[in-house]
Amino acid sequence: MSLKYKRILLKLSGEALMGNSDFGIDPSFIKYLAKEIKDVYEEGVEIAIVIGGGNIFRGNQGAKLGLDRATADYMGMLATVMNALALQDALEKEDMPTRVMSAIEMRQIAEPYIRRRAIRHLEKARIVIFAAGTGSPFFTTDTTGALRAAEIKADVLLKATKVDGIYDKDPSKYSDAKKLDEISYLDAINKNLKVMDHTALTLCMENKLPIIVFNIKQKGSLKDIVYGKKIGSVVK
Ligand code: UDP
Repeated sequence: MSLKYKRILLKLSGEALMGNSDFGIDPSFIKYLAKEIKDVYEEGVEIAIVIGGGNIFRGNQGAKLGLDRATADYMGMLATVMNALALQDALEKEDMPTRVMSAIEMRQIAEPYIRRRAIRHLEKARIVIFAAGTGSPFFTTDTTGALRAAEIKADVLLKATKVDGIYDKDPSKYSDAKKLDEISYLDAINKNLKVMDHTALTLCMENKLPIIVFNIKQKGSLKDIVYGKKIGSVVK
């Protein structure tokens, strides 16, 4: 079997690190994540990861508390750095070399993000974790995922979620919700399917970057995807 995707950008939301808890980081789930990633790493896939911060802090939460939106967004970006360090720790415990690159300079704990350097790390089989989002407020880490994927010329953007793909309506609310195996960027935008925010979707559309939405809790999915097995939903 040959790999379908040689270089991937994996978007993990902050919530993905929570596992079954309702805040922060679940050590057993992050260990599971590291093992899933290792199964793909060992196949020779180049892996870049964008991590969110929603398990700790989101900009809109802060704005609701009366904080200035941009300030709250910076707090959200700092939350992603904490998650990036936790993920780095888990990956290194599984013997994978990693580098955290931050869009906001924090030299003591992460390298500054430099595109060409990130690509070099990938070529040298290091897993790159992109922290601090785009470094600018008013964006999301989904948009960061699309942006970094385009920058490093990833073959695909893999959006890890808790559901097994994209549905025509919320499957947790409607029992007759239908799973869509494939959908166009424009349909995803126009039907407001909450796959990713519109900025992220348009960026992927303009760069012809396919997005696969899949359930990270389903063991073995990541590996199946890189070998081209049809899992989850594709936006293309
Ligand atoms: N954020 C930002 N600019 C970015 C990326 C993230 O301002 O480029 C902030 C924003 O406030 C966001 C928070 O960081 O709410 C955490 O990211 P996100 O909500 O995307 O995390 P996820 O939902 O993936 O856990």
